[in-house]
Amino acid sequence: MSKTFKVLENPELGRYALADKNLKAGDVLFEETPFAIGPKLDSPPVCLECSCPVDGNASDQKCAKCGWPLCEECIAKENDIVYHRKECAIFVKNKVKFQNVDDSTASCTQLDCITPLRVLLEKEENPNRWNAEISVMEHHPDARKATAVWNADHHNIVKYLRGPCGLKDRFSEDLIQQVIGILEVNAFEARTCSGYAIRGLYPKLAIMAHSCVPNVVHAIHPTKDYRLVARAAVDVAEGEMLFTTYTYTLSGTTMRQAALKSGKYFTCRCARCLDPAELGTHFSSLKCQKCDNGLIESVNPLDDEADWKCTHCEYKTKGAAVLKAAQVMQAELDELAYMEYGPERLENFERLFKKYRSVLHPLHFINTSIRHSLIELYGRIPGYEMHDLPDILLERKVELCQDILKVLNVFEPGKSRARAMILYELHAPLILLAQSAYRQGTLQGVSLKEKLIEAADILKECAEILEWEDSSTPEGILANVAKQAIVQLEQSIHSLE
Ligand SMILES: [Zn+2]
Ligand SMILES: [Zn+2]
Ligand SMILES: [Zn+2]
Ligand SMILES: [Zn+2]
Repeated sequence: MSKTFKVLENPELGRYALADKNLKAGDVLFEETPFAIGPKLDSPPVCLECSCPVDGNASDQKCAKCGWPLCEECIAKENDIVYHRKECAIFVKNKVKFQNVDDSTASCTQLDCITPLRVLLEKEENPNRWNAEISVMEHHPDARKATAVWNADHHNIVKYLRGPCGLKDRFSEDLIQQVIGILEVNAFEARTCSGYAIRGLYPKLAIMAHSCVPNVVHAIHPTKDYRLVARAAVDVAEGEMLFTTYTYTLSGTTMRQAALKSGKYFTCRCARCLDPAELGTHFSSLKCQKCDNGLIESVNPLDDEADWKCTHCEYKTKGAAVLKAAQVMQAELDELAYMEYGPERLENFERLFKKYRSVLHPLHFINTSIRHSLIELYGRIPGYEMHDLPDILLERKVELCQDILKVLNVFEPGKSRARAMILYELHAPLILLAQSAYRQGTLQGVSLKEKLIEAADILKECAEILEWEDSSTPEGILANVAKQAIVQLEQSIHSLE
């Protein structure tokens, strides 16, 4: 299939891939175009061309031909429609109308059929690729049949496409359910140029096995027909397995396992999932309240019912109690999500951070989540602008970034987008702290130069990773900002000579 990886198969993992040569971090593994892209599951009304949110009740946000949702911008480029073109013809031919919806923030079941329909139509157009890459994908029919979702899909998608949409003779019930299952199990999230989430079917990426510590990273280019480029995140030796991830790596084992079980129908047994300490990060560990240095960890992280025990004393509690505690804290955090970006938001996140200090391990996922919220506020809100931050708050931002990196260096090691974003946040307070110390006379010229070189190296690593992102995306734009900052920084370093 390719010189960089080879595909094997076994009953436990299904198809999986090994590196077929020694790979260096950043080496391109493969590129591919999606078989199809479309709205995510449970999508609210969106434009069927560009996926931006639309008002499900507005007559001026409808396709002039079929009456299904399109934004004003896409209506204006009527003759250049790409993604909505084929389904539009089917809706027109069969006079299938979109029913207006009043609540445009709620999920719109009428759109559930769109992405499966695009896969089915592409199958007709491109049968060779369907046979070689898509028909072989896992879709777990037996597990899915036992779920309520199967019945809902049967009603909203299978019957809808074969009935009102007039596709009874083209697509069998089994085939449509197969496509729905393939999408559910294998689709990856992509983002449009404007940052809206969609899903895409990327068959090569889907061959990579899942791990909660991936060694493959990918970037999707919305301006190049959603082309995907996959790279090695770290050095990978020939014969080693290649892993992508199907979950959010910065959630704890209980949540990752639940998401994988309900959405992907498997139990992950990666080294991180099997380790109660999550590879030494203690990402899910609580501090013991009965002894001094004990940590409370699950005796079997793969079992929700298992007890959680102190590493130092006899204390133990039920897994359900630990989960409940995490949910209560998470709910408290979620309440802050709607606060305006201002000093009050920052102070509230700091308040929660202090509140949980005696309960959570410092690197616990809830603390990590609070740190992410804080670093986007320090340096960016009124009263806390970067150049106004006193040294003590610059040091606070540095510490927050370094603590997130401790976790990311384990869970998303190497050239990951998540690390690059934090490296960007880290460089500015480091520079300002060095300059401040120099002005106060506590840092000599030679040391100032060293500190600036250190900040430039951090920025270079950030720019090198973000350069792989599409230049239209926020990450791609940041790559350019970082490159300009490197030029400026190098000028100040030279001026010190
Ligand atoms: Zn649009
Ligand atoms: Zn249309
Ligand atoms: Zn895992
Ligand atoms: Zn204890």
